[in-house]
Amino acid sequence: REKGKVNSQTQKWLNQHSNYTPKAIITIPVVVHVVWNTNQENISDAQIFSQIDILNADYRRTNADAINTPIVWNSVAADCEIEFCLATIDPNGAATTGITRTQTSQTSFSIQNDGMKHSSSGGIDAWPNEYYLNIWVCDLGGGLLGYATPPSNFLSNEDGVVIGYRYFGSTGTAQPPYHRGRTTTHEVGHWLNLEHVWGGWGSCGNDNVSDTPTQEDENYSCPSFPESPNSCGTTNANGDMFMNYMDYTNDACMNLFTNGQKARMISAINQYRPNLLNHNLCTGSTPNPSWNCINGGCVDPGNGNGTYS
Ligand code: ZN
Ligand code: CA
Repeated sequence: REKGKVNSQTQKWLNQHSNYTPKAIITIPVVVHVVWNTNQENISDAQIFSQIDILNADYRRTNADAINTPIVWNSVAADCEIEFCLATIDPNGAATTGITRTQTSQTSFSIQNDGMKHSSSGGIDAWPNEYYLNIWVCDLGGGLLGYATPPSNFLSNEDGVVIGYRYFGSTGTAQPPYHRGRTTTHEVGHWLNLEHVWGGWGSCGNDNVSDTPTQEDENYSCPSFPESPNSCGTTNANGDMFMNYMDYTNDACMNLFTNGQKARMISAINQYRPNLLNHNLCTGSTPNPSWNCINGGCVDPGNGNGTYS
């Protein structure tokens, strides 16, 4: 019911903003929560940076494999004008790397109980969901690569994206064929209100995006173009847009979002995640720590003692 409401509110916003152009690139502040049990699960900073780079490339269409988009869809392929940064300011206003690391006794987590999202269950609580994109990286059970919460009128403290540590970034523990960071590109798409290109509710569903062809079902592996022409009895000779990030194909096979998907994501940010439009969580700097002096006795904020001069 909430999903239907979000869809109708989205359509209304899009109708009212048909000439909308973003004032500037939208930069989404990200915190990556690494929740680890084995050393291998404690992925490196470099692996996290590789994922942020991939998000930026995919959402700005600067991905090197954009040239693999079939010519027939070049005109609908979008620079989504959305970027991502690791937050530089934490919820207390202090400087941060935008990365948290939590050792846990849990050997794996599941979508059923969202355990990685709470300190009380061996994970770590979200940073305020209305200001940050929370991404938890952990050992995710059940054969799942990742999952996300779609936007909603009732933002919960479990809002965010979860990715299995084998499917995050493009180095370290990332495993083929999900080793190019597209699991996160896909899940962030859900977080910004995108549905699967096949609609996701049975065969020939509707993703509420007009420039993605109607598609019978999900695709896996890496089909060759054109795949299953005239799927769903349409006259679309180009077949499925299986290289869309919102299909289930291999990372190396995906390469685009469309203009219609971009509009839906921009709408989602404006309607449900408006704090992402204007903030200093990526560029802000914290005040220099100051000397703390009481009755002439001073503590050097740098090393805890010293002489004030
Ligand atoms: Zn999905
Ligand atoms: Ca469509």
